[in-house]
Amino acid sequence: MSIQVKNVFKYYGEQAALGGVSFDISSGEIVGFLGPNGAGKSTMMKIITCFIPMSAGEVKVCGLDVEEHAIEVKKKVGYLPENNPLYLDMYVKEYLHFVAGIYKLKNKKERVAEMIKLVGLEKEQNKKIGALSKGYRQRVGLAQAIIHDPEVLILDEPTSGLDPNQLVEIRQVIQNIGKTKTVMLSTHIMQEVEAICDRVIIIKDGIIVADDKTDQMQHIKVVEKKIIFVEFDQEVSRSQLKKIKGAQDIKNIEGNQWLIEAKGDIRADIAKYAQQNNLLTLTMRLEEKSMEEVFKELTNN
Ligand code: ADP
Ligand code: MG
Repeated sequence: MSIQVKNVFKYYGEQAALGGVSFDISSGEIVGFLGPNGAGKSTMMKIITCFIPMSAGEVKVCGLDVEEHAIEVKKKVGYLPENNPLYLDMYVKEYLHFVAGIYKLKNKKERVAEMIKLVGLEKEQNKKIGALSKGYRQRVGLAQAIIHDPEVLILDEPTSGLDPNQLVEIRQVIQNIGKTKTVMLSTHIMQEVEAICDRVIIIKDGIIVADDKTDQMQHIKVVEKKIIFVEFDQEVSRSQLKKIKGAQDIKNIEGNQWLIEAKGDIRADIAKYAQQNNLLTLTMRLEEKSMEEVFKELTNN
């Protein structure tokens, strides 16, 4: 197991940023950490990378406790922080040499050249970082994150602010790197997860609300809310329908047609209710949701 997060809480003063987060990431996985602004993504990533302490809980990276073995953990982790802070006055190659020096790498020159090739910075290597476009700066950020050959990569919104072409290119670079490493990347864009990740963990208000394989998102079992369309053969009142087990929000479409929002698929409960009340269900179907809609539903209330 590459990353183990157990019941992590983080308070900034009075404010809770993480409210008991748990998940495991196996080695080799590319996991998307998805959630709106303020959900707690950066906070969780800073804890995993030993940049800030947690208030309670336990985090291990490659089996090492982040509190007890911070220095060892930092060697095993590559981190691209949010907003990718870089020295804009330094030249690309010079900066990467500098980073290689921090990690006390022996074969600095070869390693820097390797990184430049891996992230596609050959043409830009002799330019000042400040002169690069956002997309190329992200490549520099990725190169510094992997220069010490870490087992685990933590990328905080690696594609935010990129134009569509840069986006596609950086995704390719990440996928390429991900072939040999465990990658956790945060984003607030679901297409991003669909494009690069095997698995998605969705966080909202400091709590994990979903965790599943990316291609299972449409059918996800942990989805909090399901929308069921139902048409009865006779009139029923909203207050009556509220008695159905699990029904939360009920909207009348027209006549005897209703939309019932529930915590999970309660079609069996609706059928049972209908039978007990001598109603017939003329139509009943679960509204299929795209991942994007599921996400919106989970995160925007
Ligand atoms: P995300 O990366 O998902 O946008 P963050 O982890 O940055 O979320 O923030 C989670 C919550 O913690 C937010 O409500 C944010 O305002 C708060 N927060 C983050 N950093 C600090 C800080 N240094 N001091 C106080 N509150 C913070
Ligand atoms: Mg953030």
